[in-house]
Parts: sequence; structure tokens; C-alpha cells
Amino acid sequence: MRCRVIGAPVQDGASQLGCEMGPSALRTAGLITALAELGHDVSDRGTVIPPQPRSIRHGNRALKALPEIVAWTVALSAAAYEVSEGAMPIFLGGDHSLSAGTLAGIARRAAEAGRPLFVLWLDAHPDFHTLDTTASGNLHGVPLAYASGQPGFECFPALAARVEPERICVFGARSVDPAERAALTAQGVTVHDMRAIDEHGAAPLLRDFIARVEAGDGMLHVSLDVDFLDPEVAPAVGTTVPGGATLREAHLVMEMLSDSGLVTSLDIVELNPFLDERGRTAKLLVDLTASLMGRRIMDRPTRSY
Ligand code: MG
Ligand code: MG
Repeated sequence: MRCRVIGAPVQDGASQLGCEMGPSALRTAGLITALAELGHDVSDRGTVIPPQPRSIRHGNRALKALPEIVAWTVALSAAAYEVSEGAMPIFLGGDHSLSAGTLAGIARRAAEAGRPLFVLWLDAHPDFHTLDTTASGNLHGVPLAYASGQPGFECFPALAARVEPERICVFGARSVDPAERAALTAQGVTVHDMRAIDEHGAAPLLRDFIARVEAGDGMLHVSLDVDFLDPEVAPAVGTTVPGGATLREAHLVMEMLSDSGLVTSLDIVELNPFLDERGRTAKLLVDLTASLMGRRIMDRPTRSY
């Protein structure tokens, strides 16, 4: 497969600094080599640079770095649209606000291709706040609401196409604010929280969603937030929530997605190398990406660290 890797070192959407170093850590942990070893035609398209932010006023005084995140969204939307032509983009974050841009660009690409776009949101949080409902004001909590066309994003770039809420599956949630819960339910977003994963297992829930994508001849964007994983295995994130996906649950999700052959774009977000332990979270993310891109346990030589 043709893979295009793009760095998106956004950190203004998170409360803690450090995600700016995420793309470097993922490259250092061997992401490009791992993809090449799997036989993919991979090229590193470098790092997106946002335009100069313009001042923006908003009634919610809690909002942080709104001009900066809007500037990133403009740049990343254009980059995602451009790089997704005939290739699978892999966006290296950066905090999760980057997905406002990547989803906007990919949704435009899917609309032009006449195909429905589905989104699998692997995250402890649904990131479904609007600019009016967020109390923390951290804009990594809003990208899914923006990209699915929720109201109140007039100061963000207008969407060429939105992601239909019924085509979104939030998977692994365990921290959902009341305003988000109400909006997710009203909009018909599928949410498989950790309780559902405990009760039914990750596989049947994911299989159902994959079947929907396949039946609709859809494109599938996967957005992987580090906090989808349990902090015991992935400590390098500023928003840890206990009780996340285990190492094997996360690999199983990636392996099933690989088998499906349906994934057309990927975000890897919220890696904060400043909080990591000797790069172990970055290495884990490279291994998960390799599973998504076709690495099989039976093919895998033992690695010595
Ligand atoms: Mg997130
Ligand atoms: Mg999260």
C-alpha cells in the first residue's frame, strides 16, 4: 500500500505541553522502517506548518488557544485532502485537536469519491464537546463535534463535507461529560464504552462496525488516542484514565482492522514523549500501527531490546 506519513506537531489543544514532540518520538521509535519492512511504499512527507493565527473572539471565555487551533485546522484540512489522493495518510500527532483538520480533509476526499466515510474513534473520551459546552476549554475535546457538523463552530473553517454522526463509532470510552453524552445520543453516534467491551468483548463489537463499513463500501478513518490504552501500558499521555484497553485488546482491534482491508487513513494522537518512560509508549504505538498495517504474530521475529 502507498502510505504517506505526515507530522502534525500540535500541542495547543491539550492542557499539558509536550505533544509537539510526538511526531519526532514516533519517527525515532521506527515507524517508517516498520512500515517499509511490511512491504509498503512509504514516504515521509515531513511536517505541516500552520499559518499565522488570526485573532478570534468567542463568548466562552474558557477556550484556550482558539486562534492557533483554527490555524492548524486550516493547514491540516488542506494537507489531509491533498495527501489522501491515491494513498493512505498516517498523521503523527500532536494532540487530538489535529483531527478537526484531518477529518475535514478526508471527508472532502470521500465526498468527492462518492463514498461514505466512517470513523472509528479509539479514545477514553468522545471529544464531542462544542465550543460552547467545553468547560476545560482545551480544544482537543472538540474535533469530533466539529467534523460531524455540530453547531457553534462558525469561527472554524467551513466544512466541505461532514462526517455523518451515524457513521461514527467511539470505542473504549470511559470519561464522558454530560453535555457530550446528550449530544452523542441525540446524534446517533455509536459508543462502545469499556463496560460494553468488558461485557461483550472487543471483537464482536468491532466486527459489527466493520460489517457496516463493508456493506456501505465505505472509507474508514481510524483515530487512535494514546489514552484508549490503559495507562499501565501507555503512560505517555496527559489525560490518563484508568481501566483502558489492554495491550492484547488494542492489538486485536488493529489486527481485525488489518484483516478488513478497509482502513484508508489514520491519526496517531496525544503521545506526549515528555511523560514517557524510555520511549515505551512510542514503541507500543509503532507496534500497534504495524499490526494495523499487516504485521502478523506468526511472522514476527522475537525482538531484543
Ligand atoms: Mg482524544
Ligand atoms: Mg482521550
